[in-house]
Amino acid sequence: MIAVRVFRFVDWTLRPDLDADAPPTTYALRCLNLNDDDTACGAESRATTDPAEPQTWAFDHLRRHPGHTGFAELIERPWVMWQGGSK
Ligand SMILES: [Zn+2]
Repeated sequence: MIAVRVFRFVDWTLRPDLDADAPPTTYALRCLNLNDDDTACGAESRATTDPAEPQTWAFDHLRRHPGHTGFAELIERPWVMWQGGSK
């Protein structure tokens, strides 16, 4: 028997949460390079509301790990959903 789940999304709206009490949007960078033993480096800067701070971290990381030049930007942006039309 196949389980059937029914979702109803009547009159729901989803948007980025820009309210004053919303959690802040944060930025971080994660190293995408491999270590000398072919394991993933995966080092990450701390998440911060200042998008320039992870870039400073990336330069420091390169100084300590020559060749680690590839990064992914991790952005956490709050979204909110509510019922009852646009707001
Ligand atoms: Zn690295």
